[in-house]
Formats: sequence, structure tokens, C-alpha cells
Amino acid sequence: MPNLSSKLFQVAKQHIPGGVNSPVRAFRNVGGEPFFIRRAKGCRITDIDGKTYIDYIGSWGPNILGHAPTVITNTIHEVAKDGISFGIPNPFEVEMARTICGWVPSVEKVRMTSSGTEATMSAIRLARGFTRRDLIVKFEGCYHGHSDSLLVAAGSGALTHGQPDSAGVPRAFAEKTLVLPYNDHAALTALFQEKGELIAAIIVESYPANAGLIFPGPGYLQLLASITRRYGALLIFDEVMTGFRLGKAGVQGLENISPDLSCFGKVIGGGLPVGAFGGRAEIMDMIAPLGPVYQAGTLSGNPLAMAAGLAQLRELEKTSGFARLDILGRHFETGLRALMEQKGIPHRIHRTGSMFCLFFTDREIINVADVMQQDLDLFKKFFWACLERGVYIAPSPYETGFLSLAHTEADLDDTLTVFAEALAHI
Ligand SMILES: *Cc1c(COP(=O)(O)O)cnc(C)c1O
Repeated sequence: MPNLSSKLFQVAKQHIPGGVNSPVRAFRNVGGEPFFIRRAKGCRITDIDGKTYIDYIGSWGPNILGHAPTVITNTIHEVAKDGISFGIPNPFEVEMARTICGWVPSVEKVRMTSSGTEATMSAIRLARGFTRRDLIVKFEGCYHGHSDSLLVAAGSGALTHGQPDSAGVPRAFAEKTLVLPYNDHAALTALFQEKGELIAAIIVESYPANAGLIFPGPGYLQLLASITRRYGALLIFDEVMTGFRLGKAGVQGLENISPDLSCFGKVIGGGLPVGAFGGRAEIMDMIAPLGPVYQAGTLSGNPLAMAAGLAQLRELEKTSGFARLDILGRHFETGLRALMEQKGIPHRIHRTGSMFCLFFTDREIINVADVMQQDLDLFKKFFWACLERGVYIAPSPYETGFLSLAHTEADLDDTLTVFAEALAHI
């Protein structure tokens, strides 16, 4: 029976490649078609056919207070009355910079962008400009947006010959990006012994969360920090997903690491398009107009996005939001573990604060190769069975789930009931 979403998707496909403006939305990893959202409030989204779901995506991370929180919608209404974008400095961007520098000790200066992709792309350029070196090290399964230098995550053996992940990325660019398996101390040490003096920076997702959710093993982040320092390279923490989600100072605060540069996005924009990169003043002062590294943006720091982001950060602070999110996360994790054990399904559950991932494998997850061992068929069936019952989890087994302050214990319990029913029917 064709519903409104299905009809609209046919139209969308005629005018938008694949019918979507970002690939994972096309549901290719689960087979089938996406649905279109009419409205969202709190932890719930409603599609154009009128069906409502409890949502565990939160726009892929930004909506940490839930959808359309009044503090943000009111702020947007108020600020917009005085103008939407000027391309001239405004007070909100100064307040945003002060807030970031105040919350994240390693950041002395910060520049705003309009997306996480721009933030990481600019941080890489800055690291290259500062060190006068070309090579970048990244890790398999880490996603840093879609700029040329960073769309390289090709599998094993890509260590010395970067293999682009996308057509259109010249091999000559990809070769400047060296890819290593995550959590592998020996591979990292060996690479720096061979090429350390040529390496501008390591960029790493502070907790890799774009290939499931993976945690650094003991001493791994410390090794990244010490080896970059020893060889005069920079350590770039990509906290686009984790920043302002797990605590005021992100993973670097939790793990007590001081990266040279950090990238932010998602939560910092309150649902509007925002990114940021910052770090030591000595490095940041290499950016134009002070220094030779060019970086710019027509809408960067616009008052609407800055005010929305600030409203979100203030609310998190005022409500002790991170502590509350951890309580919610713990509650959900406990229930989910009990459920999976009761059902006897091989699984791993990774959770930190309000971020979680359920893997359909009993293999220990330390890098992306482990993530790939999941029972994908089981995940697909689970996804559709949950969706049918009104729970929306990411349409891919390689994504992290998000709780928001709008989820209640009752919502989480209802979700676990849906999970139990879904597992019983697949
Ligand atoms: C989402 C994400 C990005 C890219 O941000 P966009 O705003 O989508 O460009 C970069 N790095 C990480 C870790 C992300 O999760």
C-alpha cells in the first residue's frame, strides 16, 4: 500500500540523487525506503503518514535536549527578529568562543564554521601549515566528514598507499593520508619510526563513533599524545560527535588528554549548521588574517546559529544535563544487557553517557574489523521490527545511538519492551 512517504520518495528520487541529501538516509544498509518527517518534539518524531516513533538519532547527535526544545525555538524566534546573518562580527560569536574556550581547557582560540566537515578540513590545513609537513595519519573506520584528505579509510594495506574511498579524490591527495588500524600500538609506533618527521598530524575521533562505537584501549590516547609530541606532529581530536555531548570538555576532559587542535560540531549548533575548530593560540594564530593559512565562511558565526548553540549549551549546564544523561544511559544499558542475555543472542553493548551501540556479535570490539563481524541480517530484521513498533534506531549497524534529555525512564522502558517484542518476532 503506497503511503505518503513512499510517494514523496519517488518524487525525491527524480530531483535529488538517491532521493536524499546525505547517503545514510537512503536506508541502503537495511534495504527498503526512508520515511519523511512532518514534525518532531521531545524524543518523538512523526512522519508524514502520521506515525510517531521514539527517536534514537536526534538528527545524528545535535539534538541533545530532544527535538525542538522551547529554549532553542524561543531563542531562534527572538534573535531572528534582529537579523539572520550579517557577515560582520556580532556579539553571539564572541560569547560562543568564550564559552568553548572556558569549557575546553586545551582550546585557547577557536574559529567557527558551518559544518563538522569544514572544521576538520580546516584543522588539517592548519596542521599542515603550522608544521610545514604534508602527511596526515587517520584510523580505519574513523569518519571526519567528506573532505578529500579525510575520505580515505581504505582497509588494510592502505598504510603507505592511500586508497581513496570515493571516486573523485585524486590518488595524489589520498597518498598524503596514511591509514592505520585503530587501537594498534605497534602499527602506530612503526609508522612514526619510519615517517615521523614527515607527519603533520594525527586526526582521530576521540571515541570513534561512526563505525559503531569503539573505545580506546588502555594507554592508547596517551600514546597518540606522546608520539605526536616526540615527533613534532600535532594531535587533532575530532570531537564533532563527542564534544559537548559527554561532558563540558568532551572526551579530552574525561580522558585527561590535551590535544593540539580540536574539532566540534553537532551539539554546539543546537540543531543549526555549525562547526568549530580550535586549540593552542600559537597554532590558531597561523590562520588568516593573522597568518598564512586561509580559512573563511560566509555564514560562519552567524547570530542565529550561535545563539541557538549557546542556548543549548547553557541549558545543559543549568540542568546538570551530562549527569542526567549518564543516569539515563546507565538505565538503558542495564535493561538492554538483561534483555539480550535473557534472549541468548550474541551481542556486545558499548555505552558512554548518552551514546550507545548494540553489536550483534560476541566478538570483542576494538576496531572496525571487529565491527564488521556483526550479524548484519539480524540487524536488518531488528531495525524493521523496531520501526514497525514505533522505535527508530539508526538505519545502519555502523552508527551510534543517542539519548536526549527529553527521553524519560518510561520512554526507555517502552523501548526495551519494543526491543523484546522485535527480537521475539525475528
Ligand atoms: C558528523 C561528523 C563529522 C562531519 O560533520 P558534518 O557537520 O556532517 O560535516 C566529522 N567528524 C565526526 C566525528 C562526525 O561525527
